[in-house]
Amino acid sequence: MRVWAKSGVAFNGVIAVVVGLGCALFALMAGLAWPAIVATSVALAGIAWLMTIRQDIRRHFVVKHPFPDEWHEILNRSVSFYRKLDEPAKRRFERDVQIFLGEQRIYGVEGQEVPIETKLLVAASAATLSHGRPDWEWGRTRDIVVYPKAFNDEYDVADGAKIAGMVQEHGPILFSDRDLKYGYQRSADGYNVGLHELAHVVDLEDGRADGIPGDLNWMAAMPWTDRIHKDLTNKHGRHLKRLLGNYAYTNEAEFFAVSVEAFFERPKKLEQRDPELYRLLSHYFNVDPRTGRVIEPVD
Ligand SMILES: [Zn+2]
Repeated sequence: MRVWAKSGVAFNGVIAVVVGLGCALFALMAGLAWPAIVATSVALAGIAWLMTIRQDIRRHFVVKHPFPDEWHEILNRSVSFYRKLDEPAKRRFERDVQIFLGEQRIYGVEGQEVPIETKLLVAASAATLSHGRPDWEWGRTRDIVVYPKAFNDEYDVADGAKIAGMVQEHGPILFSDRDLKYGYQRSADGYNVGLHELAHVVDLEDGRADGIPGDLNWMAAMPWTDRIHKDLTNKHGRHLKRLLGNYAYTNEAEFFAVSVEAFFERPKKLEQRDPELYRLLSHYFNVDPRTGRVIEPVD
């Protein structure tokens, strides 16, 4: 997540100039005097520019806030990926957490209060997935709804309920608070609901739950199609299946989401058992999950 969009400020400046020139033309046709034409055009161009960069400005002020000590403690205690980072990378991760929390709507089911630890773990999941990809933007059309624990198909928290998280195709992201925390308590078992559900969001970026990151163009997606087909049809052997578990083999989308969990939590094992899948994931996320270092430098 970038505070200032990479080419946005200049691009939006061009839009503002076009708006200004358009206004000048109208004012000229309306017969206004030159001082009025200039003043109106400059004012409207300025408003247009501010409107187009308002998200950047908002982010600028959000990240100006000092990162609270309590948040530091929670990230240090619970997020192993964060602990691996060097100091500049930690600051960038914290900034991403601030931006995510500043822009996303996270609320508890039936009006229940969501603890800050839970919000931070959701934001940390997002910051982990986008750490090597600063141009990735988490959409703001989905609400994030937190249930106290697992729920069933009727969205009830009832005995025997097993759903720990869910992303509805065009709807909200649902999390079980208990499972979210459990995923972060055990950071090397390949189970992390936060990463899993947000991996689904990455997959769904293009509207298709096909197990391929939705922002890849068709050429970049080709090796993914091939790899996922081979893995789902179990051509790659039982070793990977033992690592990922049967649930990964439900369909392409679950295969991707579970692979992302394994990539960040059990990278060495994933690399041993399926180097090609590991390479695709590390290339896409642009990060070495063993060290937290980005592969291609980000600015
Ligand atoms: Zn899933």
